[in-house]
Amino acid sequence: MPADKPDLTTDSYRLSGLKAVGHYAWQLLWADGHSTGIYTYDYLRRLCDCDICLEKEAASD
Ligand SMILES: [Zn+2]
Repeated sequence: MPADKPDLTTDSYRLSGLKAVGHYAWQLLWADGHSTGIYTYDYLRRLCDCDICLEKEAASD
């Protein structure tokens, strides 16, 4: 656990649910109750390093 984030708990890193936002993003719900921000499919795709996503990323350039 990072020592410089004292107000975060293990629950802050535990995913409790997902909520679809339209047809383009997810809102992530965390076990400590926060749900700040939405994550678009494009953004999540860019974060992923798996072969499928890297192929799609290369094809779209
Ligand atoms: Zn992937």
